[in-house]
Amino acid sequence: DSRSTETIYMKAHFSYDPMKDRLIPCKEAGLPFQDGDILEIVNSDDPNWWQARFADIEGPTGLIPSKNLEEKRKAFVQHDYDNATSICGLTRKKKKKYKYNTKSNTNFDRCDVLIYEEVRRMAPFQRSVLVLVGANGVGRRSLKERLIRDDPRKFAGVIAHTSRAPRENEENGRGYYFTDRDSMALDIHDQKYIEFGEYNNNLYGTKLETIYDVMKTGKMCVLDVNPTSLKVLKTPEFMPYIVFLAAPSVEALKVMYEEGRRLSTTGRGRVKDFIRTVKESAQIEQTYKAYFDLILVNDSFEATYRALRKALTSLSSEQQWVPVNWVY
Ligand code: 5GP
Repeated sequence: DSRSTETIYMKAHFSYDPMKDRLIPCKEAGLPFQDGDILEIVNSDDPNWWQARFADIEGPTGLIPSKNLEEKRKAFVQHDYDNATSICGLTRKKKKKYKYNTKSNTNFDRCDVLIYEEVRRMAPFQRSVLVLVGANGVGRRSLKERLIRDDPRKFAGVIAHTSRAPRENEENGRGYYFTDRDSMALDIHDQKYIEFGEYNNNLYGTKLETIYDVMKTGKMCVLDVNPTSLKVLKTPEFMPYIVFLAAPSVEALKVMYEEGRRLSTTGRGRVKDFIRTVKESAQIEQTYKAYFDLILVNDSFEATYRALRKALTSLSSEQQWVPVNWVY
């Protein structure tokens, strides 16, 4: 097994402070880290405590909870809803059971609780799929359209399928691919769609095949999808770059709207819509943050656009940490 001699790297999906950990045998021996840090696992012989250090930084090793231990701890805390005391001195918020509104998406699946994710370093490479996720009203579609309009040789979107009859002047393969309801329903059942919805008794959706079509052209395929599709997309075939467009505050949304700098092409500027956007944004972030490569708080469309272009450019020049199954 060629992997047995390889250094193991883990991306942490939680923050850890040994000073607040009642389970660790010696607090001073612990290695504090933040959510998103990449850790080199130096020794994992002990079932509960791994020895680790930060990847790429010269520094001492320290103890961190093993995946097993942290899983047990999280399962316990999760179970222990009504008990006011928390174990291990960890501050525990009561987790509200949250269900993302997926309409009729069969892909619905809560993000598995990720503790550590095994990653590998990869040489700089340009991704062929860009995924924009975020709450409704946060401006994903505007951002996607801006990328494609500014640089149509580099970026392209997918064409959706629909069971709606074409209108006058509508041509198959321009705005939509038109299909009949039965074959579309069958394809949805056969998981050939990453996303679908129903509107006015017609089905609409994005077929996986249309993503491959764009990838074949050498352009970056820009998708703006529900976060429920992330699990299907985060595979070695697509190697997506996943950007979460976070909502700024309700106040910021309101001010931007009033100044005519609205983020979204929809919405009527009502405070209750801004509140809904901010809440939905927080829920998506909480549930799916382990998937995100980049978080951009969209408090200015221009600044967000520039930050996104910069991040995409740097993918071609900087090494990247990717899931281990993308490399093997
Ligand atoms: P129209 O039939 O007027 O072209 O689109 C009507 C509505 O269908 C849109 O406002 C949008 O809500 C929905 N729709 C269009 N394309 C898609 C798609 O790819 N997926 C989903 N879920 N809904 C879509």
